[in-house]
This record gives sequence, structure tokens and C-alpha cells, in this order.
Amino acid sequence: MAYDPGNIFAKILRSELPAYKVYEDDRVLAFLDIMPRAAGHVLVIPKAPARNLLDVAAGDLAAVMAVAQHIAQAQMQVFEAEGITLTQHNEKAGGQEVFHLHVHVIPRHAGVELRP
Ligand code: 5GP
Repeated sequence: MAYDPGNIFAKILRSELPAYKVYEDDRVLAFLDIMPRAAGHVLVIPKAPARNLLDVAAGDLAAVMAVAQHIAQAQMQVFEAEGITLTQHNEKAGGQEVFHLHVHVIPRHAGVELRP
């Protein structure tokens, strides 16, 4: 499927929409999810256009995952998390709603369910 540059995260990358950024480098941006499933829920995206896992360049995917690891390590401290959940959806049937690759990085605490 083709990449649509009109998606919400592309607009955030072009600063056409605001986002609470927690990390940025020349290849990757990380920002808070607007509807967090738990406190500290972060989305990590490549700056290069990629619809999802199915078309992302390997180098961009590696850069995104390296940042996701750093975010997870920080969340363990900042939110005193007891665990971390990563989720990543691909295409509508896979649960994807925004069609720019993103990895959800979500702090977890024992016995606390994710918000819907
Ligand atoms: P998906 O289902 O595509 O994996 O998840 C999309 C995520 O993007 C959802 O968790 C949703 O809350 C988040 N989201 C949608 N629109 C915005 C927005 O404008 N800003 C931010 N920060 N997150 C958004």
C-alpha cells in the first residue's frame, strides 16, 4: 500500500500539528500518545516515510527500535514501571489507525490493565 503524506504523524513531523516530544534525532522522533493507554505511553516513529513494518527500510526500523529501548529504560525509572509493553500495528486488519510506522512503548505495573 502507498504511503499517504497526509497522515497525522507526517503532519507532526512537518510541525503542522503539535506533539509532546520526548526524544528526537536526525532519524527518529518519539512523542506522547494523545490517548495514553497508561501514563507515559510513548510513540516512536521514523522520520522517513514508511507506512508500517511491511515497507520500512531496515536501517530506519533498527533506529526506531534502538530509541524504543532507550525510552523503555527511561520509563522504568521515571514511572517506576515494573515492565514495558511494546505494540506495533500493521494495516487496518492489524489494528493500525495512523498509517505512518509507529511503535507503542507503554510502561506497565503489576495488576494494572491498559486503558482501552
Ligand atoms: P495505531 O492503532 O495506529 O497503532 O495507534 C495510533 C495511535 O496514535 C493511537 O494510540 C492514538 O491515540 C494515537 N494518536 C492519534 N492521533 C494522535 C495525535 O494527533 N497525536 C498523538 N500524539 N497521538 C495520536
